[in-house]
Amino acid sequence: MGERDQAIAAIREWNKTCESTLGLRPIVVDPKRVATIHPLGILHNAMSLLVLVLVVNAVPSVTIGAWRRRRAVRRMARGQCALCGYEFGAASIDRCPECGQARAGGET
Ligand SMILES: [Zn+2]
Repeated sequence: MGERDQAIAAIREWNKTCESTLGLRPIVVDPKRVATIHPLGILHNAMSLLVLVLVVNAVPSVTIGAWRRRRAVRRMARGQCALCGYEFGAASIDRCPECGQARAGGET
C-alpha cells in the first residue's frame, strides 16, 4: 500500500468516525486529488519565508535611506547643515555648531 493509498484510507476511516461517533458530515474525498507532504516542500517554504522576511525588512531601510539622501542634498543646496538643518548663513565655519557635522561641499 502506497503513501497515497494510506492517506485515502486514513481519510475514509476519519469519515466513518465522523459519521458514527460525532454525527458530522464526512469529508468528501476525490481519490485522484489527495495531497501528500513533499520533503523538499518544507525546505521550499522555509526558503520562501526567509526571502520574504529579508525583502520586507529591506524595503523600509532602502526607502528611508533614499529619503535621507534627498533631504541632505536639499539642505546643502539651501546652505544648511545636511544632518540637522542648521542654517550656516554667511558664516565661514567648517563644522555645524549644533550637531558637529562637517560642512559638506566646503566653503563656496
Ligand atoms: Zn548640524
